[in-house]
Amino acid sequence: MPRATTRGREKARLILLGTAGGPTPKLTRAAPSQAILFGGAAYVVDCGNGVARQLRLAGVSLQSIRHVFITHHHSDHNADYGTLLLLAWASDLTTPVDTWGPPPLKKMTSLFLDMNETDMKVRMADEGRPALASLIRPHEISQDGVVLRDGALTVTCARVHHPLVADALAYRFDTPDRSIVISGDTRPSPSLVKLAKDADVLVHEVLYLPGVEALIAGSPDPAALRRHLLDSHTPLDQVGAVASEANVRTLVLSHFTPGETTAVADEVWLRDAKANFKGEVVVGKDLMEI
Ligand SMILES: [Zn+2]
Ligand SMILES: [Zn+2]
Repeated sequence: MPRATTRGREKARLILLGTAGGPTPKLTRAAPSQAILFGGAAYVVDCGNGVARQLRLAGVSLQSIRHVFITHHHSDHNADYGTLLLLAWASDLTTPVDTWGPPPLKKMTSLFLDMNETDMKVRMADEGRPALASLIRPHEISQDGVVLRDGALTVTCARVHHPLVADALAYRFDTPDRSIVISGDTRPSPSLVKLAKDADVLVHEVLYLPGVEALIAGSPDPAALRRHLLDSHTPLDQVGAVASEANVRTLVLSHFTPGETTAVADEVWLRDAKANFKGEVVVGKDLMEI
């Protein structure tokens, strides 16, 4: 264990910014995103639609964003990747932001900057802002291991199984007093279990298949859609076993499918997750701090 410094004694805060699964905008939950606050900096994991506003609602200054992590390139996780950076810049961000995720993150970053050139040129002239491109440093990740060490905080990642997405990552944040793992989207995955071993908090995606049967029945090929969901996501009756095998202290359910809070009662999420896990289970809600 690293020796705790004065800064290191601070307990990392975790805020769920958005807890819905899937790209369709929901009425009762925002798209997936989390913020970890430590050492005066915000580490944002995933950028679902509306992430900038969710940060404001959570009381997190956009100027405090230091690192942005993308788990994978599905639009529920990256739709506002560039938008978050652009709106942070328009909110007086003047310090560098490193961004991390699977390829083609660099290309996505430069295309987004190109797309918004008109707005940025005007604001630089009108408002005297630095060039946003000079503040953003994208890094592509294509293997497991340590992503970065930032003072007393270390970020590690592992590739998880989320077909047909080739590169899907889970991230682990270790601080002297707390370890937090974000699963991203994954089916039950040994690499996620290994990454999350003995963590304090595991935020894990979850799918309640009976809750989406009506949607499946209405699709052009119900059997194929059901197979896809089970191939790439973690059913509620298995998420407790994942947490149990990883020996985490607290399991936080998030990235709910179906995504509306009214679709499945909290008691159902809780009961079925607890069936295979002895630790604490939290049914995640937007803006909840853990
Ligand atoms: Zn997703
Ligand atoms: Zn996905």
